[in-house]
Amino acid sequence: DFVTADLVIVGSGFFGLTIAEQAATELGLKVVVLDRRHHIGGNAYSEKEEQTGIEVHRYGAHLFHTSNERVWEYVNRFTSFTNYVHKVYGVHKGEVYSLPINLATINQFFRANLTPGQAKDLIQEQAGELAGTDPQNLNDKGIQLIGRPLYEAFIKHYTGKQWQTDPKDLPAGIISRLPVRYNYDNRYFNDKYEGLPTNGYTAWIEKMAEHPNIEVRLNTDFFDESHEYSKNKVVGNIPVVYTGPVDRYFDYAEGDLSWRTIDFEEEVLDVGDFQGTSVVNYNDEDVAYTRVIEPRHFHPEREYQTEKTIIMREFSRFAEKGDEPYYPINTSADRDRLLKYRDLAAGEKDVLFGGRLGTYKYLDMHMAIGSALTMFDNKIRPHFEAGADIESGGVDA
Ligand code: FAD
Ligand code: UDP
Repeated sequence: DFVTADLVIVGSGFFGLTIAEQAATELGLKVVVLDRRHHIGGNAYSEKEEQTGIEVHRYGAHLFHTSNERVWEYVNRFTSFTNYVHKVYGVHKGEVYSLPINLATINQFFRANLTPGQAKDLIQEQAGELAGTDPQNLNDKGIQLIGRPLYEAFIKHYTGKQWQTDPKDLPAGIISRLPVRYNYDNRYFNDKYEGLPTNGYTAWIEKMAEHPNIEVRLNTDFFDESHEYSKNKVVGNIPVVYTGPVDRYFDYAEGDLSWRTIDFEEEVLDVGDFQGTSVVNYNDEDVAYTRVIEPRHFHPEREYQTEKTIIMREFSRFAEKGDEPYYPINTSADRDRLLKYRDLAAGEKDVLFGGRLGTYKYLDMHMAIGSALTMFDNKIRPHFEAGADIESGGVDA
C-alpha cells in the first residue's frame, strides 16, 4: 500500500501500464495504477470462456501488429508472439470474397481472369466517373478510389452499418487508406511484425504490472472521492497520468465528445468450427451485424480440444453515457470541442493526458505503447531526474 505514491496513473490499459512499468523499472518510482473496471488491461483484456476454454478478447478482437522496432523490442520483454497472420473474408450476395480488395476479389467479382495490369486498367476506367474531382465525402472518395461496383459491394453498406451514418455524410479521410492490391496478397496488415501473445493478452498485461513498485487498484474510479487517490486529493500533490476520457476529466465543460460503441452478441455453438476462419465481414445491408468473430481461429496452435465453438456478432452504434467508448467519431463539432479540451489540459498542473480516451484518437495497441514510451522519455523522466516542469502536458503530449 503506497500511501504516498510518486506517480498516480488513471487507467490500466496499454498506455497506463507502459508508463507504470517504465517509471518503476527505470526510475524506481512507486506507482499506483487505478482502474474503474474489475480487471487490468483496458480494452485489450482477454479471458478464457468458461464452457469452451477458448480465449476471448472481451472488448473486441485485438490483433497485434507493428513496424516500430522500439515497440517490438519492448513488447517482447513481456511476451512472445505466435506466427498468426490476420486475414479477413467478406460475404456479399451469398458469396464469400477475400479482403482487403485484391486480385482474387476483383476476378471473382467480375467473373474474370485478369492480370494485375488488366485489373488496374479496369478499376481506373470505373473510377473515371469522378476522376479529377476532389471528393470531400466518403461515398465519392470511395467511388473515385475503386469505382462504383466494388465500392457499392464491399464498402458502402459495411461503412454505413459501422458508422451508423450515410457515407455521403462521413469525411473522405476515413478511407483514404483503403488498400486495393493488384496481386493475390490478402494479409490484412502491412506491418513488419505481427502475431498474437502466445499465452494470451492478460498474461502479457499482468507481466507488465508485475514490478513490486507497482500497485494496481481495481474497481477504483478516479472521480470517486471515497479513496485516497481521488482526483481532488491527488491533483496538484502527486503527478498524474490520466488515460480516461478527456471530456469526463473536465466534467464535460465543453460538451460531450462523440464515440461509437459495439454490442457483442455472444453465442456458444455445438459445432467444432462455425466459419473456418477468425473474422467474416458481412458487407450487405440486409444483415444487421458488421462481422462475426470466431476466437478459436486466433490460436490454431493451441488445438483447443472442444467440439464447441464461440462466436461474437458485432453491432455498431453511437455510444451513450454509460456505454464503453470505443471509436472516436470525430465530427467537426468534436474537433472544435477537442481543441478546447486540449487548452484546458495544458493548464492542468502536473497532469499528463494520454492514450486513446485521453487524446480522443484511434490508437492501435502499438501506437498507444509507442506514445507512452515517448511521454515517459520526454516528460516523466526529465521531471523525476532533473526536476523539469511537467505542467505543459497537453492532450497531445
Ligand atoms: P484503454 O485500453 O481504453 O484503457 C483505459 C483504461 O482507463 C480502461 O481500463 C478504463 O477502465 C480506465 N479508466 C477510464 N476512466 C477511468 C476512471 N475515471 N478511473 C479509473 N480508471 C478509468 N488495437 C490494435 O492494435 N489492434 C486491434 O485489432 C485493435 N482492435 C480494437 C478493437 C476495439 C473494439 C477497440 C475498442 C480497440 C481496439 N484496438 C486495437 C485498440 C486498443 O484497444 C488500444 O490501442 C488500447 O486499448 C489503448 O490503450 P489505452 O491504454 O489508451 O486505453
Ligand atoms: N471497411 C469496409 N468494408 C470492409 C472492411 C472495412 O467498408 O469489409 C471500411 C469501413 O469504413 C471501416 C474501415 O474500412 O470503418 C476500417 O475497417 P477495419 O475493419 O480495418 O477497422 P476496425 O473497424 O477493425 O477498426
